[in-house]
Amino acid sequence: MFAPSLAIGRVVHYRSHGSADGLHPPACVAADITAVGAWLTTNTTEHGDGLRTLDQHWDNEACALAVRNPNGLFFAAPCAHDESGEPGTWHWPLTCGHIPTAPRPTEDLTHA
Ligand SMILES: [Zn+2]
Repeated sequence: MFAPSLAIGRVVHYRSHGSADGLHPPACVAADITAVGAWLTTNTTEHGDGLRTLDQHWDNEACALAVRNPNGLFFAAPCAHDESGEPGTWHWPLTCGHIPTAPRPTEDLTHA
């Protein structure tokens, strides 16, 4: 499997969550790594009165991302590395099989 070392500025795929109504399914989007390594929250317990406990672990492969959607940029909080492409995670572009292609024209544009 192709897996270069993690570094700020490398391009990866961010897997979007898609829309709640299912009209837009999760999709791969190009993203630039802006930070490497982060504390990820695995569980949150609310205690009331504004108190909560976070269970966290340090993840050397969690990355903050600048996600390049076709209609704008957004900056994703550190997200986990997941080659299976779960929404809200990142993966290496050449291994996912989700690489989007340009839509084909529906009419012949070759004649003058
Ligand atoms: Zn992908």
